[in-house]
Amino acid sequence: MSRMLVTGAAGFLGSFLCDRLLKQGHEVIGMDNRVSGQSSNLDDAFAHEQFSFFEHDVTEFIHVSGELDAVLHLASLASPVFYRDYPIKTLKVGALGTHKTLGLAREKDATYLFTSTSEVYGDPEVNPQPESYRGNVDPYGPRSCYDESKRYGEALVRGYRDKHDLDVRVARIFNTYGPRMRLDDGRVIPNFMKQALTGENITVYGDGEQTRSFCYVSDMIDGLLALLRSDVDEPVNIGNPDERSILNLAEVIREVTDSESDVTYKERPPQDPEIRRPDISKARSELEWTPQVSLRDGLTQSMPYFESQLQL
Ligand code: NAD
Ligand code: UDP
Repeated sequence: MSRMLVTGAAGFLGSFLCDRLLKQGHEVIGMDNRVSGQSSNLDDAFAHEQFSFFEHDVTEFIHVSGELDAVLHLASLASPVFYRDYPIKTLKVGALGTHKTLGLAREKDATYLFTSTSEVYGDPEVNPQPESYRGNVDPYGPRSCYDESKRYGEALVRGYRDKHDLDVRVARIFNTYGPRMRLDDGRVIPNFMKQALTGENITVYGDGEQTRSFCYVSDMIDGLLALLRSDVDEPVNIGNPDERSILNLAEVIREVTDSESDVTYKERPPQDPEIRRPDISKARSELEWTPQVSLRDGLTQSMPYFESQLQL
């Protein structure tokens, strides 16, 4: 049994990670300032006596009493709509929040896991993207508050590894979806599910030929835990390489939800990446991890949650 701190615990991935760690018998301390999280995500965790929660902004000094075996840093604004609305909070949580949590891990001699992102590759010029690709990011662009905070976060993690010999892991997470995403999150799957289930038009930005590769949440949690258990202290891509155009995603969602919604085309946000697909050779070979859930199955499993949020 280990004692672990999860930041961003009230969020989508953080809450599932807490649930899984509790199920495995660990003691879990959740931390979140609820800037984008939902308390209801932690209903299962709160029912567990091994769980405790602290409402705290991780950009401020963090005090945790007792020992810690791992610090898992998931806190961030994560949706392009949210980080556009809160650019400074996004930069602070990636920079100051990562610094504070690294300092805590060092103090406790704990293993540190950083949740980075495929956005460190920006608008990629190679497809799929291997970890060795250095990215195409505009430092003064509309998405740079997120991209650059995660790139800086990775550099900080590397600094603590090299200077303080901290035991670190870096997950480069690709688009992930499932229950517990906020309906007003603005990311493509909650938007399309809500629109398909209520018969509204499905809003495709641009011509819908841009691509993404969508990973179901249970696969992502398996991947993060496989990385944590490993001794890989270099970045590892975690995602599902099943690449789809956004138009194709709209079609699959229409089918899964048995919807008659039409597609409507809206202006594409500036610098929206054209392609994205993880090269997961490293995760396959070094973590023996590979995603199991197909897009259709993952969407079908997510549907009851979205219906309940919409009170259908
Ligand atoms: P989410 O928005 O659902 O959860 C993030 C949580 O962090 C929220 O509960 C929010 O309130 C909390 N938070 C933000 N700033 C904070 C602060 N200063 N102090 C304390 N808590 C704070 O997002 P998610 O999808 O669960 O993402 C989790 C992590 O994974 C993030 O670091 C994100 O960048 C990364 N990631 C996610 C995806 C994805 O597709 N879901 C893709 C790439 C990377
Ligand atoms: N998108 C869309 N309609 C929406 C929301 C998003 O067409 O209602 C597109 C968006 O322009 C992008 C893709 O879907 O090309 C994925 O967007 P998301 O915000 O989910 O995440 P990103 O991968 O861009 O960070």
